[in-house]
Amino acid sequence: MSSQTNELIEILRYSREYTRFMSELGVETAEPLAEIERPTDELESPVVFARVASPRVEPQSSQPMQAPKSRVSAPAAPPSDSLFNLASPQPAFAPTNETLADIWKDIGDCTRCGLCEGRTQVVNTHGNPKARLMFIGEAPGADEDAQGKPFVGRAGQLLTKMIEAMGMKREDVIIGNVNRCRPPGNRQPTLEEAAICRPFLFREIATIQPEVIVVMGNTALRNLLEVREGITRVRGKFQDFRGIKVMPTFHPAYLLRDPSKKRETWEDLKLVRDYLESVSEKETS
Ligand code: URA
Repeated sequence: MSSQTNELIEILRYSREYTRFMSELGVETAEPLAEIERPTDELESPVVFARVASPRVEPQSSQPMQAPKSRVSAPAAPPSDSLFNLASPQPAFAPTNETLADIWKDIGDCTRCGLCEGRTQVVNTHGNPKARLMFIGEAPGADEDAQGKPFVGRAGQLLTKMIEAMGMKREDVIIGNVNRCRPPGNRQPTLEEAAICRPFLFREIATIQPEVIVVMGNTALRNLLEVREGITRVRGKFQDFRGIKVMPTFHPAYLLRDPSKKRETWEDLKLVRDYLESVSEKETS
């Protein structure tokens, strides 16, 4: 077969996959596969990350505020001028016997930060504890706060469709957030709130040992990786988090506001799918 024929077959395969992905996501009109603009959405803004300070809950005498018990160290401060901290990659997590149930027991009816005041319940990570693939978002919204599970609202329904378009089921993967309590008015968690909650996420990752983590949006990106750039710059390129491959991509809530970004998201997820498939093939051959 000539290289032109191969190229044509590749284009047709791509178009078929793309059309299927878009129709899974409920998009009926095709978008041009042309240059796309950089989003100006607030999810892309580097300053919005620490925009709103929340009131701190003072420890009560009968229930002292506990520091989160972390078996894993928090990431170092972001490097001053480089995109990635290539000089000092963090070591892989040590093997742990800790279960997710142990971690959730430690979290308990958490009052470690002010978000506990407005939440209905703590929303822990949910899904297959042996998942090869983990998704991380920002914080619960109203639906998640009511149901006690991450990503069950509109953004969650879109995420489910994205997972299914990858040829997987939601039960195959595991899904969590940087923060486990709904911020008032769905604002972004502050740096302090994120830092208080993050060690629990790291303990979960150490327990699950996923092969790939998809970080969705800036809050997840910046709480896992030492990057200063926003999601628009970093998305679509595999990163490393303690030996685990991390794919940054857009947050499904952002895709609901700007469906034109679904195309890039699909590109990112295809890289994840292809990577996982290539590892399985290697293991079975
Ligand atoms: N957005 C998130 O980041 N997490 C959820 O669980 C729901 C919406």
